[in-house]
Amino acid sequence: MKMMWQLLQAYFFPCLYCGSLQGTKALLCERCARQLEYYEHEQGLFHYNEAPYPIFALYEWNPGQSDLLSSTVLALKQGQRREAWNHYAQKFSQKRMALNMTPSKKIRFVPAPSSSGHKDHAFAHAEALAKHFSGEVVPCLKKLKKKSQRGGNRQQRQRLRLGLDEKYSEVSKDSTDTLWVFVDDILTTGSTAHAAYEVLGSPTHFEVWVLGRRSLSCGASRYLL
Ligand SMILES: [Zn+2]
Repeated sequence: MKMMWQLLQAYFFPCLYCGSLQGTKALLCERCARQLEYYEHEQGLFHYNEAPYPIFALYEWNPGQSDLLSSTVLALKQGQRREAWNHYAQKFSQKRMALNMTPSKKIRFVPAPSSSGHKDHAFAHAEALAKHFSGEVVPCLKKLKKKSQRGGNRQQRQRLRLGLDEKYSEVSKDSTDTLWVFVDDILTTGSTAHAAYEVLGSPTHFEVWVLGRRSLSCGASRYLL
């Protein structure tokens, strides 16, 4: 019986939120997927102008507000989930198009580096976006070993944690016909995104695209960048 259920699950992915097997696509059933739209921006994407570059998010995520959105985000963080990331990347692209914001430049998607050095969900997200925007994935960032973090402010310490992969030592050259897009799943303080911006040499054309912007509680300053 257990094996039968496992076999069924392999063919009919149940909705991760309600368990329904009906019309499940990109982790959710149709009903839950419609409910998730409630957390999208009514005119397209959430757009934040709090850094020297624009930040775009498909959802605004307040973990205490929606179990549905939280479950979806957590599920997307497990494994590669390429099909699901493809679904959200397509949604992102449709919304950019609806906003008439289809970039004319060649886009280089730079995923947030994983701690393990292996491809993780940020890479899967970047890969899916690259497909929908005919761009290129440039996994040029790497996490540096945690040493020499003493001294300096939070921003300086964060910057020390990221570096350029030796294979991509040429990438920091600014180019007017390239749009650099830093990709992550969730943006919280934005400090990793800002570290990426600096490590890439503060390119003129730089944006941050994420699935969700996590709202900060406790009155923490948003300008922790
Ligand atoms: Zn459902």
